[in-house]
Amino acid sequence: MRSIDANDISALAGLLQSCSDFVIVIHTHPDGDAVGSGCALQEFIASVPGKKVRVITPDAPPFTLDFLCEGRDFLDASAKPAEAAALIAGCDALICLDFNAFRRTEGLAPLLAASPARKVLIDHHLNPERDAFELCFSCTEVSSACELLYEVLKALPQVGGDVCKLPPFSRYALMTGMTTDTNNFANSVYPGTLRMAGELLQAGVDRDDILDRLYRQDRPQKLHAFADLLGSHLEILPGGIACIYMSEAMKAAYGISEGETEGLVNIPLSLAEVRMSIFAREENGVIRVSLRSKPGLSANELAARFFHGGGHTLASGGKIFIPDDISSESGARDYIAAAAARFLQDEGGPEK
Ligand code: 5GP
Ligand code: MN
Repeated sequence: MRSIDANDISALAGLLQSCSDFVIVIHTHPDGDAVGSGCALQEFIASVPGKKVRVITPDAPPFTLDFLCEGRDFLDASAKPAEAAALIAGCDALICLDFNAFRRTEGLAPLLAASPARKVLIDHHLNPERDAFELCFSCTEVSSACELLYEVLKALPQVGGDVCKLPPFSRYALMTGMTTDTNNFANSVYPGTLRMAGELLQAGVDRDDILDRLYRQDRPQKLHAFADLLGSHLEILPGGIACIYMSEAMKAAYGISEGETEGLVNIPLSLAEVRMSIFAREENGVIRVSLRSKPGLSANELAARFFHGGGHTLASGGKIFIPDDISSESGARDYIAAAAARFLQDEGGPEK
């Protein structure tokens, strides 16, 4: 990671001191990195007497992350839109975590743009919307927003590089988000990621507890659904693009929810012949798409060109809209196959 600009750190330290009413915003369909960084920063700011700080999520975090956000001051804007709008319009400072552009918060985007609050971005995605922020901490050579936030917090004068000066729950939440975004150290691991993990372990973070809560608390129906999805719904398209499609009916039949399918998209990459994996699922009339690629193919490019999305080079997401992209849900599989074929053709053919 490039070192963080000392002037930006001074500016952030000044902002943290002079503002008293903070709102932290994370992206829609929040994942472990979004929720982890939100919790960590909230705890850090709230540890200073006199500071008010709320975390606003555009929609509800999955229940699999309850262990992080339950009992904390999180506001689900989809459940309480008026309250969220008032907080965004009335706060002194808005701090956006784990997304690169206001549109990643969907319905909150115009409110964020219109708010007179001072605005800070701390994020690790490609193409940050720099002009929308007074202060922009953006770096793609980190595992996660949690890793970047960790470095930013450590650099603040009141922390002075001493991890033990971060509140214990901030340390725990940062380790959690880094763990989920690296898929438990399987991808996006940089030297700084391992340094962070070592320092947090040294400072007493209970990693066994994190692993237990993230990876050892599944319900049987999740494994049943995974078996079916990988056994009967996985298709390898020409050129080594794996595609799994899950309909709303299938999700309902197994009784699984968003959050429980986290990680599924990575599994087909274990096949030698697979160069990119796509997991598409129907959700409230939209097809949500997750993409993961091996080095040499850009999931980000495919997501941007065909799925109105983006993210990171090897891990991205997007959507297929009905009726704009396909006339009905039944057209999703063909749309994905055609997009993959076009993409590979432009890349120079499936054998490249
Ligand atoms: P996931 O597949 O886990 O939902 O997302 C993978 C990565 O792509 C994450 O970094 C996420 O923030 C990003 N991402 C997911 N969906 C979208 C989307 O609709 N648009 C953009 N620009 N990025 C997305
Ligand atoms: Mn992230």
